[in-house]
Amino acid sequence: MAVRLNFNVPEHSGMTSARTRARLAERLRASGIADEALLGVMAEVPRHAFVDQALAHRAYDDVSLPIGYSQTISQPYIVARMTELVLGASGRQKVLEIGTGCGYQTTVLAQFFHTVHSIERVGGLARAARERLAGLGVRNVRLRHGDGSQGWANAAPFDAIMITAAAPILPEALIGQLAVGGRLVFPVGVAEQELRMIERTADGCLETRLEKVRFVPLLPGVA
Ligand code: SAH
Repeated sequence: MAVRLNFNVPEHSGMTSARTRARLAERLRASGIADEALLGVMAEVPRHAFVDQALAHRAYDDVSLPIGYSQTISQPYIVARMTELVLGASGRQKVLEIGTGCGYQTTVLAQFFHTVHSIERVGGLARAARERLAGLGVRNVRLRHGDGSQGWANAAPFDAIMITAAAPILPEALIGQLAVGGRLVFPVGVAEQELRMIERTADGCLETRLEKVRFVPLLPGVA
């Protein structure tokens, strides 16, 4: 149920144009992303509005980029890949994202789920994301400055949970906040990291191990 997108963001150059975004979507398709609605959203969300203007010309390269506070905006491929995985959950009401960062992944999720809850531990990033999303007119999000490893208990259960920073082991509390039919997608590991998915069924959980990935660490407490 992707909503009609209208972000109304100025282009700084041809490097931030709709054509450049369309080419990114084509590269994602070539990399194996198959969901057409998702490719459409990747071609619409103005990633250059999520990075510093000095990096805008690189916004549609398929790479992660710095966003300050030693953090990064994830690579478009991994954003699309993790989104594709959570879209396989049986519901589209509520999704929880842990690690808002600049709010790019949040915005992609907001096109598919009725409400996105997102938690960020760095206060400066949480504030900037709140302002940015308001400016872009992304309204179906609830942002919180806090440690996401305990999840968001009073908004649970979630149809999907996505962690965008890597922990050595999965914070257990999160599994309990997943609805039946829900999917939890997360990177795990320290030096060597791997993407994993847990699907909650009526009688238990099924874990699938996916590809090698590279994320910033999931850290305790707030900053
Ligand atoms: N989703 C972002 C990715 C940001 S990088 C995107 O769209 O690009 C991961 C983010 O997780 C960082 O901003 C980092 O500060 C945050 N983070 C790390 N540990 C966390 C924790 N315990 N709780 C909430 N956020 C955390």
